[in-house]
Amino acid sequence: MLKLLCVTAHPDDEAGCFGGILAKYSEAGVECSVLCLTGGERAANRNGIKPDEELKALRRKEFADSCHHLGVKHCEVFDYADGALDRENFHEVTGKLVHSIRSLRPHVIASFGAEGYVTAHPDHGMAGLFTSAAFQWAARKTRYAGQLEEGLKPWQAEKLYYVTTEFSLPERPAVSLAPVTARVDVAPYIARKIEAFAKHASQLPLLPIFENAQRQAGDHELFHLVATSEVTPMEMETDLFAGIRAL
Ligand SMILES: [Zn+2]
Repeated sequence: MLKLLCVTAHPDDEAGCFGGILAKYSEAGVECSVLCLTGGERAANRNGIKPDEELKALRRKEFADSCHHLGVKHCEVFDYADGALDRENFHEVTGKLVHSIRSLRPHVIASFGAEGYVTAHPDHGMAGLFTSAAFQWAARKTRYAGQLEEGLKPWQAEKLYYVTTEFSLPERPAVSLAPVTARVDVAPYIARKIEAFAKHASQLPLLPIFENAQRQAGDHELFHLVATSEVTPMEMETDLFAGIRAL
């Protein structure tokens, strides 16, 4: 069975940034997983909730509902500090992702580029940096060797992608986005993507902004191919699983 793993920073990223491919590939029988590094407890939109712990609990539930709506099989929220992923211990966070990659054994991994996607959020950029290292290190026996003593085996995912766009948001800092190398048609899944975003009821003020961005993005989700397990010539792709051997 083919497997896809998305690594995100905040509950709602899975819908906003990867909702189309998660719905599309889940429906096609790909086993989809999402790992979210923070509980989103520092969000400006709080639905009247003051304590961070309370908001975090609500957002975990919203995240699970959104993932369920997108057909995601395995979803998990880690407990790193929202708004401060750049202050976390790189070795520790990457080790946790390496453990997940060795356990889930995905063929394709998608996350953010260092720019932080169109929103320029530093947490997005950090999620991408941790994931980029974990993609490489999960395959090496010498990295996090203690995990191998627990029975896990090294795992080389076949492709790593960063999500990207061809538009910018004037209200956000300018970013240098990765060029598009994969253009995935998600037209039949846009409605479900928006419904999944709406499951994040605590973030409802963001919904019109998201819908507007989705209109600009059109019927495709765009990606940049960052790394492959075997060297191949770069071609414009329409499928993140193109060229992957059926296992
Ligand atoms: Zn985010």
